Amino acid sequence: MTKRDYYEVLDVSRTASESEIKKAYRQQALKYHPDKNPGDHEAEDKFKEAAEAYEVLKDPDKRRTYDQFGHEGLKNSGFSGAKGFDDIFSSFGDIFGDFFGQGGGRPSTGADLRLDMSVTFAEAAFGTQKEMEITKHAACKTCQGSGAKSGYPPKQCSTCRGTGQVIRTQGFFSVSSPCPNCHGAGQVITHPCATCRGDGRVLEKKKVSINIPAGVDDGTRLRLRGEGETGPGGLPPGDLYVFVHVEAHDFFHRDGHDIHSRLNLSFSQAALGAEIEIPLLDEGETKVISVKAGVQSGETQRISGAGIPHLRGHGRGDQIIHFSVETPKRLNARQKELLKELAEIDGKPVKETLKGFFQKLMP
Ligand SMILES: [Zn+2]
Ligand SMILES: [Zn+2]
Repeated sequence: MTKRDYYEVLDVSRTASESEIKKAYRQQALKYHPDKNPGDHEAEDKFKEAAEAYEVLKDPDKRRTYDQFGHEGLKNSGFSGAKGFDDIFSSFGDIFGDFFGQGGGRPSTGADLRLDMSVTFAEAAFGTQKEMEITKHAACKTCQGSGAKSGYPPKQCSTCRGTGQVIRTQGFFSVSSPCPNCHGAGQVITHPCATCRGDGRVLEKKKVSINIPAGVDDGTRLRLRGEGETGPGGLPPGDLYVFVHVEAHDFFHRDGHDIHSRLNLSFSQAALGAEIEIPLLDEGETKVISVKAGVQSGETQRISGAGIPHLRGHGRGDQIIHFSVETPKRLNARQKELLKELAEIDGKPVKETLKGFFQKLMP
């Protein structure tokens, strides 16, 4: 096979400067890049030819040898000529600098999964263990996740030459992204496994045990390492993220580690004081509290350590009781009589004496 003249290959004059050669090679490389010409062997050859020409002409020593003695002279000096794609791609660094970037590498794990889970107020407070069934991609047992039929190991991907990356050009910029042919794996399966059809994974129902730690709040995100989807071609699994939703409670609401509850007091309980049994967060447990005489609506009483356990470490928040004094709505005759009597003692007018009260105020 006769080799074309290197200057002709890059379409530059024999007196071209280093930067002219560099510029010319960049144009050729972008034009004949395998990603832009998939399956085009002529483009592939031109791409390699341009790389080889640049390899020689960018090097003053090699260029001088070539100028004086041609291809034959280079051969005698030990230059081997055409290079593999890996070498060509590695030499891109000089030419394109950072434009190829580091992004778009092959994923190192399978996808993460999200699971939304509701727990009761008490379960969130004290923690619980939940079994959930999830459907996910797991490694195929027939091929151990390789996706290849036994006896037919995967072959190097021809699109990306095993690198798992393709380089796309957008105007002046080029970015690398996972190879669409092998999805970044760098290899392809010629004889797929019959069970998973070459994916290396099968959909599987799996029970996962989820430990809800005591004290989780609404919106807490728990991470279960390695419980996500197994990646294609035997990549290790991603993670499972459990989003915890805490159901509202009839009696309590939460603020940090404290829980708040409302306690309605009758007028006489508020006035005279009372011993009242109230429910605690701990299931089935109650506590008798002493409400002081004369308590007002909006006043609070705190029960230390009856709140939400701290997620890390020891101790609990408090339970805070908010008093609300209820005005009686329906009264029987006896109750009315007693309240009127109370009003008279207080010297505060009620409906029947309202007229007299105003008359007293008039001069
Ligand atoms: Zn590939
Ligand atoms: Zn399989």
